[in-house]
Amino acid sequence: MDKTPHLVGMPPFRVDAPLDSDETASAPRLSQQVLRTDISGMPLEWIDYKEAVRLYHTGQVAYTCGSPLYSLLGGINARTGLQTQVDVNSIIATVGHTHSPGARRGAYLPPLNNETLFKRDGYLCMYCGSRFSSHQLSRDHIKPFSRGGQDTWANVITACRRCNNAKASRTPEEAGMQLLAVPFIPTFAEYIYLKGRRVLTDQMEYLLAHFPRSSPLHSRLHSWSC
Ligand SMILES: [Zn+2]
Repeated sequence: MDKTPHLVGMPPFRVDAPLDSDETASAPRLSQQVLRTDISGMPLEWIDYKEAVRLYHTGQVAYTCGSPLYSLLGGINARTGLQTQVDVNSIIATVGHTHSPGARRGAYLPPLNNETLFKRDGYLCMYCGSRFSSHQLSRDHIKPFSRGGQDTWANVITACRRCNNAKASRTPEEAGMQLLAVPFIPTFAEYIYLKGRRVLTDQMEYLLAHFPRSSPLHSRLHSWSC
């Protein structure tokens, strides 16, 4: 006999959490991303609530960490007559297929884009030290691109437009400018943090525990509060 509960009309779910508007500090909004990990607890990716519900529904959530984010009510279970409810946590450990780098994690080279670069550098210009919003910042090639410098994490730094223009096609030494911090290539876990739109405290603590001990982000997060 089939013991599998039959769910009628999975989504759409009723949401017992506020939508994007009227957000309050105590009630996480539905757009809050969930941190997905593999079965061993290694961070994998950010997922939205729909993907989280799908993982719960298909039995791929092995255990949860963090705190409850929201509850979603689904269809009626044909066998029990009860309405299904999914309580989504801020961190979920899952089984099954993922797009994670798995064993190649150690050699993972994250893609370079401005948003994660600016976040790596705490939205600070690495020359003048001032903080700017994203649209006022630019990607500076320490060794200029026009002179063979590579467009890689280790050769790029966040700079305000003014400093970037002042430096022009010169190295910092040639321009008499000093870098405030050394660029670094994020690890997989660090890159997940950098990609997070709004990282909750428990998610942050979880990710921090997976950063290398030597990660510059430990001190950056502490002193730059980015
Ligand atoms: Zn600057």
